[in-house]
Amino acid sequence: MQGKLDHVAIAVRSLDEAARVYAQLGLGALRTCTMDEMGVRVGFLAAGASQIELLEPLRPDSVVGKFLARRGEGLHHICLEVDDIEASLAELAAQGVELIDRTPRQGAEGRVAFIHPRATHGVLIELVQKH
Ligand code: ZN
Repeated sequence: MQGKLDHVAIAVRSLDEAARVYAQLGLGALRTCTMDEMGVRVGFLAAGASQIELLEPLRPDSVVGKFLARRGEGLHHICLEVDDIEASLAELAAQGVELIDRTPRQGAEGRVAFIHPRATHGVLIELVQKH
């Protein structure tokens, strides 16, 4: 598996408020989308070859809503882009890496799957295949 850093995701209470702060760091061009089934509003900020992803919960009982209640705002996950997500998942599973998703699901920017933070020293890692 060869992954390259696609984005760093940050859980925030208000996407608009966070985007204003990140604009002060030169991360201005915000693209947003809403993923109703996940209960999250997502904003992407261009940061060179990678992006910053801001995650605002739409409901307190969503994954990000529960994360905010438990841990507050901050780093939620990092995302690595791979060429073949099925092959990457099979390779990781064969090495005994603990996966949250054994098969990919639809994400904001392609098919995604998550690796359990227990397997990666405390950081939730998302894999994405964009095409
Ligand atoms: Zn992400």
